[in-house]
Amino acid sequence: MELRNLLLICFLITVLSSCSSQKTLQPTLVKSETSSVNKQKTKVDRPMYAMVIHAGAGTILKENITEEEEYYYKRALYAALQSGEVILENGGTALNAVEITIKYLEDIPLFNAGKGAVFTNAGINELDASIMDGNTLNAGAVGGVTNIKNPISAAIEVMKNSNHVMLVGKGAEEFAAKQGLELVEPDYFKTDARWESLQNAKAKEKDTGAILEDNPDWKFGTVGCVALDQFGNIVAGTSTGGMTNKRYNRIGDSPIIGAGTYANNETCGVSCTGHGEYFIRYTVAHDVSAIMEYTGASLEEASQQVVMEKLVKAKGSGGLVALDKDGNISMTFNTPGMYRGYVKPGERFVAIYKEESPE
Ligand code: ASP
Repeated sequence: MELRNLLLICFLITVLSSCSSQKTLQPTLVKSETSSVNKQKTKVDRPMYAMVIHAGAGTILKENITEEEEYYYKRALYAALQSGEVILENGGTALNAVEITIKYLEDIPLFNAGKGAVFTNAGINELDASIMDGNTLNAGAVGGVTNIKNPISAAIEVMKNSNHVMLVGKGAEEFAAKQGLELVEPDYFKTDARWESLQNAKAKEKDTGAILEDNPDWKFGTVGCVALDQFGNIVAGTSTGGMTNKRYNRIGDSPIIGAGTYANNETCGVSCTGHGEYFIRYTVAHDVSAIMEYTGASLEEASQQVVMEKLVKAKGSGGLVALDKDGNISMTFNTPGMYRGYVKPGERFVAIYKEESPE
């Protein structure tokens, strides 16, 4: 019942949202002058804008999802893309597009960010988020917050209106309140489905002594977005509830710049989802950018190297979405599925399972 109700609410939100904009179907190209690693100037056709999103990776198998559920998940991904695309096609900034898109994903209860976040072992929701601006290399993040309705907006406030990069816990909440962000009662984030997942995780832990990384059923429902705007600026953002049954104020990769999020106009923007401890140790988001910068590899080559080689070797599961300064997109994951999608002028794609790819 609970899931049906959630899906119905999401459907209504997505229908309303899709009524609010018209899609541009004509591909638009702008000539951009880009410098490659060896400083040679080359003319590249890049799309006027591009945006890519994820809403978590993990053991997401077709046999475990009904057609109805699949439809609503995909509708939600389309609606999220649409909310950011409206901004980008009208000349808005990548920062604005990323904030609006992530807020949309935080507000619907389907994904592990904002409302619908997973529970800690103590039965509360502790949220993490981060943002990075590839033009200035400025960044902001919040960790372990419990009453900020949209953690992504708090991360943006940290970036724009503080001298710091990361604020956590009570201090972050106090700062968000001072900035006038919307605060909610902590139980706003609660959904029955996530509560049940916590009970299941605890039961398994008791039965098998399993720790976080031993559970094959983990699904990482973090949300993330990377956008390239008409000015050639790249912004990346990520927002999450972390991992079910986490303890001791554990914080994962999502609010850590260079691990879960990174952006640099010279290379690419990246947002990750997966088992955060590995993404922190392997500085995954920055590694993709660094490989491009130091070796001249393409975005896809760099993403494959990090996610399919380094992380697989380390047994770190998850994936990432990324785009480069020329609007190329990568959606790379080493799990059975990842909620994902991208939009460019005239192109729109969403998918869940591994075997789905843009024609
Ligand atoms: N990366 C997140 C974390 O470890 C979890 C996720 O991607 O869902 O906190």
